[in-house]
Amino acid sequence: MRATSPTGEPRQLLELLQQRVAACTLCDELAGFRTQTVFGVGNSQARLCFLGEAPGRDEDRLGEPFVGRAGKLLTDIIQKGMQLKREDVYILNVLKCRPPGNRNPTPAEAASCRPFLERQLEIIQPEFICCLGSVAAQNLLQTRESIGRLRGTVHQFRGIKVVATYHPAYLLRNPAAKKDTWEDIQLLMQEMGATNGGTL
Ligand code: SF4
Repeated sequence: MRATSPTGEPRQLLELLQQRVAACTLCDELAGFRTQTVFGVGNSQARLCFLGEAPGRDEDRLGEPFVGRAGKLLTDIIQKGMQLKREDVYILNVLKCRPPGNRNPTPAEAASCRPFLERQLEIIQPEFICCLGSVAAQNLLQTRESIGRLRGTVHQFRGIKVVATYHPAYLLRNPAAKKDTWEDIQLLMQEMGATNGGTL
């Protein structure tokens, strides 16, 4: 068990940050369009974070990341594939507000929201991050490389090991890519020292 942060418990620090996010209006268009902000969910001291792109329609409505069909597939990856519980990990997005029409975040929006993402990661202190899709991976790692080139390798972000794979929504449209994601998840589990995994 790791030491308690000198400035507070991770769960309380996340709650305070969540309140700041809920009041944020830095991105005019997104703040006017959203139903609510979608901060993140899970274990405030998780070893593993899953990072997505931005809330979609279901997430905006319910206030939680990855809750639609893509969310169900992510849950299967975590539970059936990794033999973990969804509540063991932490799930968050690059942007905390839904872009209209689910368009990609603009560079300005990603830059505005980045301090919130960085602070979340500082509080949680994960050992591993799994980026879901190119937008998440490119934003976290500050690169323009395609997801096809980023996957299959372990990257680093401020001492945290990072693995990138396809977004679950892409896997729903292209089921043949699930085998690649399963390889990425096995790489992640190897790094985490996990010996037992299931199948996707
Ligand atoms: S996306 Fe982030 S920075 Fe932009 S308004 Fe929402 S919370 Fe604020």
